[in-house]
This record gives sequence, C-alpha cells and structure tokens, in this order.
Amino acid sequence: MNANFQRRVRDAIDNAFLQEALSNSPDRWRQEWGKRLDELAVGDELRERAQEIRRDVIENLNMYVGQFISNLQKNGIHIHRASDAANACATTVRIARSHGAKLVTKSKSMLTEEIELNRALSKAGIWPVETDLGEFIIQLRGEAPAHIVAPAIHLRREDVAETFSQKLGMTYTTEIEDMTLYARAVLREKFLNSEVGISGVNFGVAETGTICLVTNEGNGRMVTTIPPVHIAIMGLERLLPTLDDLGVMLQLLPRACTGQKITAYVSLIQAPRREGDSDGPQERHLILVDNGRQDIAGSSMSEILYCIRCGACLNVCPVYRQIGGQAYASPYSGPIGAVVSPSLFGIKQYGHLAMASTLCGACHEVCPVNIDLPRYLLRIREKYTQERINRRWVKWILKIYEWLILIPKRYSMAQRLGARLLRVLPRKEGWYTWAPPPLSAWTRARHFPPLATQSFRQQLRDLVQERNFTAAVSEQNQGVVSAERERPQELEHDLVRDFSDNLTEVGGEFIECNREIVAEKVVDILDQLPHRALFTWGENDAFMFDLLQRLKENGFEIIDFHIPEGMDKHRQASISEVATADIGITVALAGLADTGTIIHASGRGRSQLASLLPPIHVAVLPANKIYPTMEAWLQDHGKGMINSSSCLSLISGPSKSADIESTLTLGVHGPARVIVICV
Ligand code: SF4
Repeated sequence: MNANFQRRVRDAIDNAFLQEALSNSPDRWRQEWGKRLDELAVGDELRERAQEIRRDVIENLNMYVGQFISNLQKNGIHIHRASDAANACATTVRIARSHGAKLVTKSKSMLTEEIELNRALSKAGIWPVETDLGEFIIQLRGEAPAHIVAPAIHLRREDVAETFSQKLGMTYTTEIEDMTLYARAVLREKFLNSEVGISGVNFGVAETGTICLVTNEGNGRMVTTIPPVHIAIMGLERLLPTLDDLGVMLQLLPRACTGQKITAYVSLIQAPRREGDSDGPQERHLILVDNGRQDIAGSSMSEILYCIRCGACLNVCPVYRQIGGQAYASPYSGPIGAVVSPSLFGIKQYGHLAMASTLCGACHEVCPVNIDLPRYLLRIREKYTQERINRRWVKWILKIYEWLILIPKRYSMAQRLGARLLRVLPRKEGWYTWAPPPLSAWTRARHFPPLATQSFRQQLRDLVQERNFTAAVSEQNQGVVSAERERPQELEHDLVRDFSDNLTEVGGEFIECNREIVAEKVVDILDQLPHRALFTWGENDAFMFDLLQRLKENGFEIIDFHIPEGMDKHRQASISEVATADIGITVALAGLADTGTIIHASGRGRSQLASLLPPIHVAVLPANKIYPTMEAWLQDHGKGMINSSSCLSLISGPSKSADIESTLTLGVHGPARVIVICV
C-alpha cells in the first residue's frame, strides 16, 4: 500500500483526540439516521425510489442537462459549462473580475474543494472567504476538510481557540459559544462587503431550472442573497428530473447526513432578483462542471454518480472511523471517497484508498440512494491490483488457499490448528493484542479476533436449533400478541400540534393565538425582548398593516426595507442598516407540520433578509396554511410558489452548527431564536 498513506494512517491512529471525536459524532449521527428512517415508515421504499431517480438521471444525463440549461436560461440565470477544473476556475475568476471583485464569500462546497477554486481565486488576487464555520476554521489553519459534513471534526476546542487567537486576534477562550459568536461577527462583515457570493448546489431540478441549497448555519442563504452577484458551481450529475423527486431527496438527505428531519434552511433558487423584489442578487450564474463525470457516467462505475454527498457511509465505515478524512489526502474520503477519488483523479494516485476497506457492507446499508459501494471498492481494487501487485506471489497464495478450502475436512482441520497455534499470542479479553507480520499491520491499530473453534456449519446448526426453540415459545404466546396487534389505533391528525412539536424539537418557539389578538401578542413578546429596533416584512397585506400600525403606536422603530434596484452604492448601505436590526418580523406563506418548517418566498415587499440577518426572527403563520408534509405542499401550492418567486426559503428553527467538538450552537449566521406565532 502507498507509503504516504500508511504514514498518515499511523498518525491518525496515534492521535487520541481524533479517535475520540471519530467515535462520538458519527455514532450519534448514525443512531439518529436509523431513528429518522424508521419514522418515515417507508424508509426502504423511499431509498429504492431515490435510487431509481438517480439511475434515470445518470442514464439520461445529456437529456436532463439540456432541459436544465434551457430552463435556467428562461429564468434569467447565466449558464456556463466547464469541461474540467481549470476551466471551472477560470470561468469563476472571469465573472468575479468582471464585477471588480476583491472579496468573495463562499458557502461549503465539495466541488470547489475538488477543483481547488480557492487557490485559483487567490492567485487572481481575489480573496475567498469560507463562511461555513467548520470550513472557516480549516481555511484559517490551511487544512483540508476532514469530513463531507463536518470539516473540522478532527479539531479540539483548544485548537480552534488557538487558531482564532492567532489568526483573528480574539482573546483566547475555549468557550464554544463565544468563539462561534466571534466568528459570526467577523464573517457578517465579510458577507456585507463581498462583491460576489459563491455556493455549491445540492440539487438542480431539470423541469423547472431550480437550484436547491441545503444548510444549517444560514451562510448558504447569506452568500446567495447579500452580494450583488451569485455564482453557483454544480457537478453535472447533481440533477433531478422533477420537483417531486426533489421532495424525495429532501426527506433522505438530512436524515442520512446528520439525523435531522430537515436542515434549518433549504433554499430553492429560481432566478436573480426580479422587478419589485426587496432583495436578492442582480445577477446569478451557474457553472456546470464535468471534470470527468461524463466518462464515469459511460463506464461500469456509473452508479457512484448517484451519490448525494450525505456522508452517512463515512459515519459507519470502520476504516474511516479509525483514520478520519485527512488520511485520504483527497477532498472525498470514506468509502465514497475511496471509489470517487480514483475514478476522478486516477487509479495510480488514489487506487490504494480502496484497499483500506473491510468490505463489511455497512456503507451500502446506510446509503440513502442504495449505492452498492463494496462492489465498486472491489472493482477499483481489481484495477489497482492489475497495475501494481506482484502476480507470482498472489498466484502462490491463492494456490495454497485453493488446496486448503476445496476439501472441507482439510479446511476445518486447518482452522482448528490455526486457532490452537494462535493461542500462544498475547491476548486481552479473548482478543489478540499482537501478531507477527503481516498480521502485525492489523494488531498495530486494533485487536485481532480469535479464530472460531467451531466450523461455520456447526455454528449454523446450533443457531437453527435455537431459532426453532424461540419460534415454539412465540407460538405459545401468540394469543396474547395477536390480541395486542389487532387493537385499533386511532390517529388524530392535529397539524397545529404536530407543527408545534416538531418546531420545538428543532429549537424553535411556538405560540398559538387568535387572529384578533395577534398584534397584542406580538407587542407582548417584543416587550419582553431586550431590544426595540425592528425590521419588518413590508408586505402590502391588511393583516400585516394592522400589526405594523400597532407596533408603531407602541413605540417600536420600524425599518422599511427595500434595496434600490441596480448595483449602486446604496445597496450595501441599505443591507448594512438592516443588519443592525434586532428582530425580523415576517408572515409565513405556509408551514409543514412534519418538520416544523415555515416557508417564505421573495417577492414584492417580501425581503428574505428579514428572516436571516436579525438575531431574533418572529414569524406569523396562519394555521390554515399548515400542510402535513412537503409532498402535500408541493402537490397543492408549492410548485406554483417555487415557479413564481425568485427564491423560496424553507426555515426550520434557528440557525445552528455543531462544527466545534460536535457541540450544538445556535445563531451561527442566522437568528438564534425563531418564534412562530400561529394564528
Ligand atoms: S455514497 Fe451514499 S452514503 Fe456515501 S455519501 Fe454518497 S449518498 Fe451518502
């Protein structure tokens, strides 16, 4: 195996903190993922559907790319195609330069890591600032991400404190909340002053030309809303045929990723700022990157393009959980990295990653799009082996193995003998702690299991006997059990209560009141808050008008917000003024009961920034606009809403991050409090 890789692996195994971090967070995510999938009830069915959707896209890639491009153009988004990394970087630099950009803010994107965009921007004299908290930390340290979802998973709070004190001048503290708030202030200033915002794309919807972005911190919304120009960079495999397909993926992605039902923010971007919109960028560009994807789509490895980059396979992989992401020395780590890296960047340089696998199949089991990763790991191994391994040795080993296993008696004798011989080795709780080479490569990092003293057939016979016994006992108890099962279960579908429960679960606050007293209620709530300044939703709506009047009568300062059309200096000044507001008040267009989500669309008088910049967001939600699920909303008004607004945001609770030592912190970029008043 590659010597550098082995060195990195040894370093990772010797790093006690890394070992602890890798066993904590992924474990929690894995458990949450299992729980969330069970909740779905149709979990497996949904995964199969997701796989079919992805298969359809990859098999008909050119057709969907054509449809997507044509719809993007109709929506007024500038489209650029890039055949490789150099091309993608050059296009980004050209667009940024044409707007005189000196500073660009970026949200997390694995593709921009893949094409090394930051290096290209810096070389061109443009300063790229990563705004995802984890990415920001590792950018300050000049490191690569250690996980698809949690880039700074390998760092302790002390490491982050030291980095912030050295690079940002922050007084040294290991309080995670203080560090997060400090980063919020530093990055807020960057958002407000950057000329271009760059984001990745989680999904592109071919039938509508919609760009979907999924984040928890709110930085994705910031970079796609505040700067006057937005550039989205997307791998061409990230397409979905329809909005219904997007509904399927949005159920699976966050569950697989971090065990959430939905992320705090889902942005559905349709167009640049339209006439009358209160905010949003004047220009949106989409760079569609190939960089080897078309070749993979036409090969026997095409299934690996189904990947939606959720990171679930990393969390369950026994190898990743020992060595972490940086040992892979590729933007893509874990099982998916071990197949994607050699396919994109070359078998010679990255083929060895596929050898670092136990082929246990856990990655396949958790993959939300059902990719048979072990099969592709074997394919990469085969190609890599053909290029590198000494065939004479392999032939001899296989011959001995063949001689052993072809006669069952001989095999079982060898097994018993092996088990006896191994007994001389040192052991701990039955596991071998040391073994001679080549087994020492294993025992250096973990203990070796004892060889079975019974043959598999014998174990199977015992198991069958035990099963028969259990079945007999359960038959005896059947009367009791079936009576329990037949008992009818009544389900009361209380949407408001479901909404409230789910909103509270994601850290939001819920208040229910009559329409007549809503103004009073809002005034009451605001009176208890420490600040008086207000930033409100300037909707031309009688209900909102009454509310505004009432607030003014009660002495609240109202900021009437609308960014002037055109990219003149007033734009930045207006946004900076709004950024001083303490509370944003909005009226939600709809709510989703099963996730506690509120939905806001940009439009005339409706600013997206009201629900994003102030530290507290108060949203008024009419109870009759609550839908049971995203699917139901899409079927009813959802698709129309997406098509008719330049940007639509699904908000589920406060802005959050667990990027420092996996500790949940609220209010990273967006509001730390979200209060929904249900009318
Ligand atoms: S291969 Fe599957 S589990 Fe792994 S990141 Fe991709 S979608 Fe997630």
